[in-house]
Amino acid sequence: MSPSNTKVRVMTGARVSGALHIGHYFGVTRNMVSFQDEYDCFYGVMDWHGMTTSYRESHKIDLWIRDMLSEWVAWGIDPEKATVFVQSQVPEVLELNMIFANLTPLGWLERVPTWKDAVEDAKKNDTHNLGRFGYPVLQAADIAIFQGERVPIGKDQAPHLELSREIIRRFNGVYKGKFPEPKPIFTETPMILGLDNRKMSTSYGNTIELSQEPKAVERAVKKMITDPQRVTREDKGDPEVCNVYSFHKLVSSKEEQAWVREGCTTAGIGCGDCKMKLACNINNLFEEPREKKKKILADRVQMDRLIKEGSEKAREVAQKTLRSVRDAMKFHGGL
Ligand code: SF4
Repeated sequence: MSPSNTKVRVMTGARVSGALHIGHYFGVTRNMVSFQDEYDCFYGVMDWHGMTTSYRESHKIDLWIRDMLSEWVAWGIDPEKATVFVQSQVPEVLELNMIFANLTPLGWLERVPTWKDAVEDAKKNDTHNLGRFGYPVLQAADIAIFQGERVPIGKDQAPHLELSREIIRRFNGVYKGKFPEPKPIFTETPMILGLDNRKMSTSYGNTIELSQEPKAVERAVKKMITDPQRVTREDKGDPEVCNVYSFHKLVSSKEEQAWVREGCTTAGIGCGDCKMKLACNINNLFEEPREKKKKILADRVQMDRLIKEGSEKAREVAQKTLRSVRDAMKFHGGL
């Protein structure tokens, strides 16, 4: 059950949940682009994962899939280099999820700290359901069905990957399976705060979306919370406690960052000047991909082809894996 390609296989994806924002780009997409040449990459648009939180909005998920795919391609993911697919177009993953679910004691799920937070969150927003509870098992199946050998993660997600490794080890132990145990690639995933200084998230409505037009970006940046001690233009500020400066570190040149530090700490610039510079740099970053995305999305035939070809390629691998899984289990539906 190991990949035949000589390149090491990377498996990752993103849960569909609406328009992608700047946090997605710096936390996920940018890393995915950087892996394409070195690794044999499988990148999934995870619509089943989206369903765990957005089951009442199932009618929107097809649109979100197309949005995510076109965004990925516009920002540099190349379907000629990476296998880009839609999770629900590869139904074998659900079969493996079922098998893994039987091998996963509930206590293993309860040990993952981020899972506990997610469950607490779920209680508040009508997603306290079995699908949501079981999503770490589906993640393990996502990785294993494509025989993923490396998974890009931030350090905070290490317990999640460890759970996937445990489930995969258990399968290998019980059935003498040969799944590779996926190892992490620890990536730079800066903590991106939203306009209100909470974690940037579509559900908080505090995002800067990647497709926003320049005026909308300016309006969003104007709302950002600054150093609370800097009440008037004459007060000196501290960029290190200001989210606007955190964004400058991501999108502005070293010289511009020095200009912010100097101007803020001496009250040489106002927060308005600082935010205008930031909005301008975000807009420069967004301009080309935003226009590219519009063209990709408008071409329905190309989008359909993108979904079908990538998913068929992924499915071939998944079917082969599942045959090996059933052989290892000596479980063939009575035939
Ligand atoms: Fe923040 Fe810039 Fe204002 Fe300083 S000048 S407090 S870095 S917005």
